[in-house]
Amino acid sequence: MSSPQPLIFRKGLDMKDAVAGELAAAYDSALVDRVRGSDFKYSSGRLLVHLAHEFGFCYGVDRAVDYAYQARRRFPGRNVFLTGEIIHNPHVNDRLRSEGIKFLSDPEAHPELLGPDDVVILPAFGVTVDEMARLSSQGCTLVDTTCGSVLNVWKNVVRYAREGFTSIIHGKVKHEETRATASQALKYPDGRYLVVLDRAEATIVCDYIRNGGDRNDFLKQFEGAMSPGFDPDTDLQRVGCANQTTMLMSESLEIGEMFRTAMRDRYGDDELVSRFRAFDTICSATQERQDAVIALLDQERLDLMLVVGGYNSSNTCNLARICEATVRTYHIADPDCMLSADEIRHRPVGAPSTTAGVEAVTHGWLPGSGSVSVGLTAGASTPNNIVGEVIRKLERFCE
Ligand code: SF4
Repeated sequence: MSSPQPLIFRKGLDMKDAVAGELAAAYDSALVDRVRGSDFKYSSGRLLVHLAHEFGFCYGVDRAVDYAYQARRRFPGRNVFLTGEIIHNPHVNDRLRSEGIKFLSDPEAHPELLGPDDVVILPAFGVTVDEMARLSSQGCTLVDTTCGSVLNVWKNVVRYAREGFTSIIHGKVKHEETRATASQALKYPDGRYLVVLDRAEATIVCDYIRNGGDRNDFLKQFEGAMSPGFDPDTDLQRVGCANQTTMLMSESLEIGEMFRTAMRDRYGDDELVSRFRAFDTICSATQERQDAVIALLDQERLDLMLVVGGYNSSNTCNLARICEATVRTYHIADPDCMLSADEIRHRPVGAPSTTAGVEAVTHGWLPGSGSVSVGLTAGASTPNNIVGEVIRKLERFCE
């Protein structure tokens, strides 16, 4: 007997107008609109807030959340599931739960029991090839919100695999997007991938390309970050660079150059073209948010910087890394982290972004008197209403 055919929605569900009011009520902020209209500045008493010119919801997240609401409306009476977090923002995920959407990542969920009556929403960062195949074979109705910028990375990784290049993916090996991207490399039998987290890991791989090394040490070092059966002696002879879309752009570009140089050192200029590929696959929304914060740090005198977003949000963590290099920075998940004018809960900059629970408490974060200039930005999965509440709370604390 043949498997049931899945119905896949990739371009919306014709319910955009029906949910527009609901989305605006849930996630917009009149205050943020006002600040935007006032040259991204907000002044109240001794407080001056400088908002980055690009911040918050990106086009991919906007679309994913929109489709989730449309799915709920389009299929009343049917079970609607998310494979896991739709985006890395606890408020948005909690709201979707309260709308009746269930999470397949919950311990009580039974993904193996899904069938043609069930609707499954795929998140903005995509799912692995295996997960997609399983859901398809179960005949579920799929609402695919995978962002176009992620699909662009996948296209490059598939091409690398087809042409015999190992994908070197600058990303976080446990991040859903990187797992999904890596799985694309396995669409071809000889497809290979290796995930590198940062410059330090890239340096180890580049040294191996140049000089070889202890194979077992290498395999131990990158355990869990390589395609099955990876052999550094043969699988680093032709490499193509890609990245998780939300990494620090400057670091991704640098890592790409490190690999180009290593391949040139090992094989010479003449062979570079046949042995090395690179594409800039950082998404434009991530780049714009990073550029905006760099401009803000450059142009304004700030006492401190607040970066708002989920602790497991890669792009938010990278915004915090940029800010921390210049000014005292607090990465907060939401306004509840601002406990008082003296006390703030925050994620230490540089802690692993996949660990939701790492949090510090700092006293004396806000100057107790005199004028205070606060820079503010928010990650791509943070809605404007949260940003607006942060401004309101700052205002109260500075009275
Ligand atoms: S951060 Fe970039 S890749 Fe990710 S959903 Fe947003 S626009 Fe798409």
